Amino acid sequence: MDMNRRHFFKACTAGLGASSLALLGFSPQPVLAETRNFKLARTSEARNTCPYCSVGCGVVMYSIGDGAKNAKAEIIHIEGDPDHPVNRGTLCPKGAGLLDFVHSKSRLRYPEYRAAGSSEWKRISWEEALDRTAKLMKADRDANFVAKTGDGKTVNRWVTTGMLAASASSNEAGYLTHKFARSLGILVLDNQARI
Ligand code: SF4
Repeated sequence: MDMNRRHFFKACTAGLGASSLALLGFSPQPVLAETRNFKLARTSEARNTCPYCSVGCGVVMYSIGDGAKNAKAEIIHIEGDPDHPVNRGTLCPKGAGLLDFVHSKSRLRYPEYRAAGSSEWKRISWEEALDRTAKLMKADRDANFVAKTGDGKTVNRWVTTGMLAASASSNEAGYLTHKFARSLGILVLDNQARI
């Protein structure tokens, strides 16, 4: 190859620039290798269930945060759980977008109450929400529980309140939910994940 004086200086400058960048740690290969390892390094894993539909796919959620007191963990990645018998690591597009749902500004994170006739939703504590739910359930059950039919058959049923359990429940949580609801006489019972 013919090289005049101008080409020679250009080649030297390019070579010098590339070797200087490599010395500074910008060599392409180590950079790519570090990027591949970095995303899930120093994360902790938690298993859960996709909340969207009755298929109940298992997910693994990766959080950063070292668990120290006052350190806030943050979920940075969610993927299908390869050990889950339902989905074996796969997720549909809805499940694959779970990270956006987790970090959505409009996601409801605490109980809210809107009084009858009011247009305002008011934030309440979990304790207040559970107390109120329990009081309303008791009042409704006391008023509508049917122990016997008109012809004397024992039925012990309560049909004016129903219960819908969440898909993120495990089999064990679903079993306990079922026992709890049936022991109160509730007949209208369903679970989003059909467990
Ligand atoms: S990943 Fe898709 S199919 Fe699986 S539970 Fe979520 S919404 Fe349903």
